Amino acid sequence: MLISRLVDYQRSINPDADPFFEKKPVRWAVEYGDDGRFIQLHKLGDEKRGLDKLVPKKVGAVSGGVAAFGTDNPRFVLGYMTTPDEKKAGRDHAAFVDLARKAAESHAEARFTAAVAFLDRPDQVDAARQQAVAEKVADGDRMALSWHGDRGTLLFETDAGMQFWREYRQEQEASKKQAEAVRCLACGQVAPPVLTNDTKIMGVPDAQPSGAALVSFDKESFQSYGWDKNVNAPVCEQCSRDYTRGLNDLLDRSNRSRIDQEGVAFVYWQDSGRNREVVNIFEEPDSDDSRRILSAAQTGRLPDLGIKPSESLYALALRGNGGRAVVTEWFEETLGVAYSRLARWFEDLQLVLAFPEREGGQTVREQGALSRPPRLWMLVQATVRKGDKASPRLPSAIVRSALTGEPLPLWVADACARRLDLEENGFGDFLAPARLGLIRATINRRIRALNLKEKELQPGLDTTNEDPAYLCGRLLATLEAAQYAGVGDVGANIVDRYYGKASSAPSLVFGQLMKLAQSHLSAISNEGQRVNLDKEVQEIVGQLGASFPKTLSVEQQGAFAIGYYHQKAHRFAEIQRRRAERASQQEDTTEETNQS
Ligand SMILES: [Zn+2]
Repeated sequence: MLISRLVDYQRSINPDADPFFEKKPVRWAVEYGDDGRFIQLHKLGDEKRGLDKLVPKKVGAVSGGVAAFGTDNPRFVLGYMTTPDEKKAGRDHAAFVDLARKAAESHAEARFTAAVAFLDRPDQVDAARQQAVAEKVADGDRMALSWHGDRGTLLFETDAGMQFWREYRQEQEASKKQAEAVRCLACGQVAPPVLTNDTKIMGVPDAQPSGAALVSFDKESFQSYGWDKNVNAPVCEQCSRDYTRGLNDLLDRSNRSRIDQEGVAFVYWQDSGRNREVVNIFEEPDSDDSRRILSAAQTGRLPDLGIKPSESLYALALRGNGGRAVVTEWFEETLGVAYSRLARWFEDLQLVLAFPEREGGQTVREQGALSRPPRLWMLVQATVRKGDKASPRLPSAIVRSALTGEPLPLWVADACARRLDLEENGFGDFLAPARLGLIRATINRRIRALNLKEKELQPGLDTTNEDPAYLCGRLLATLEAAQYAGVGDVGANIVDRYYGKASSAPSLVFGQLMKLAQSHLSAISNEGQRVNLDKEVQEIVGQLGASFPKTLSVEQQGAFAIGYYHQKAHRFAEIQRRRAERASQQEDTTEETNQS
């Protein structure tokens, strides 16, 4: 489950982490002698910051009065504050002294005894405080005791100091009331639950900048995994800290295990650590690396690339809501299965191109070739008008379908079909292949998932597909071609005028369109062309049977769009083929003439 996977992840990237220590810069060292004499205040680090050290990490310190051993703010160590608050300073300094006394009592150590001697001598502590004033020590600076005999090693970082702190903390954990103990959801141990999770999840989109806590799943997703709402409830202190750190590491953009789309952050990892391949596949599916993995997944050659197919892949989607980081998707699968599903995903999006695919002034795929695998952002943007925001549910729906093989929600096809109708160049713009690919994937995945009898949509023209919606789409493309052949460019042609109605309520407009077609066909001067187009119209109408469908559902409107596009792509390919044929015939003739 999610929490324990994150805990495992954190422990795998950071196996030596000590739960009782944390990295913090230490700015000042208070040097004291054997008899408790104050010797000197030393400034540590450089101009900008103190020295990074693994310092004792205290828990439950929110309300104050809880000290760490041998180091803390000057208020704890010396009772020093730039704006004195005697109550606070007294309470915290007393807690600090108390802890030092505990150390001296439990371990016969000269450095401990001397520390207590120093803290017990008001004149010496005051001398240290005077120097702190002179050195302009800030309230937030971290200060540490250092015994003269340790020659610069700080009290808490001596072996004895670390040992004391560990024992002290372990005892503290053990003494938390047994009544409070619960079985930790992540590690399975019976342990006290988290009191304060002072480490927050950082960088979740739309969450508070100060960080968020991981909370419940969105309704749908957690139900589908049989999850309890209280994902964050019974987790022991150690696991809580580890899963938060693990998640922060994955969310760290510099680690490149994260993709953001429409306010949702996706992170990927696997048993052996971060996973950048899936991020790459979604972001650059046409790159050499991505193609290598996808084709290896199809042919069972993943081990050749050093990928263990049996290793698990984890995907998590998060969005922010104030102080909460909400899990919107959670997915776990072996790499072998996940990569082969991704390969299938891109296959489902493929189309034979009616227009060349261009990017940055370059043709990246020729007309008639298969479309290029679309990037995640292109799929998201293909559903909306340029500059508009897509549904925040869309990226999750896409990633989910790609990784699980589950069908896409129908509203995805609906959004795409609307764009084809409304967008000025919806079938030919930069995002058209992504838009049509999504429609094809939505329809085919639904057919597969529900075991429907319908024929799946092919990447290119399928003259054996007798779905009326698909045929109507093909017919509209043929009628458009007849119009162009008969009367040329007329500004707004039948597609510009009637596409919306033709794709939603064919019987309303196709009667009229067929009449128009008669006059367009008879205006075609090239007899061969006229005969061919007429034959094509008759064939499609013949397949359609007696009548045009009254209305088409969202899905059928998608099939209509694909039919229209396929027929168009097929026609353009035919034109090119004939052109090439003519060119080569001419060459032949020229050669013959030259020879004779
Ligand atoms: Zn645990």
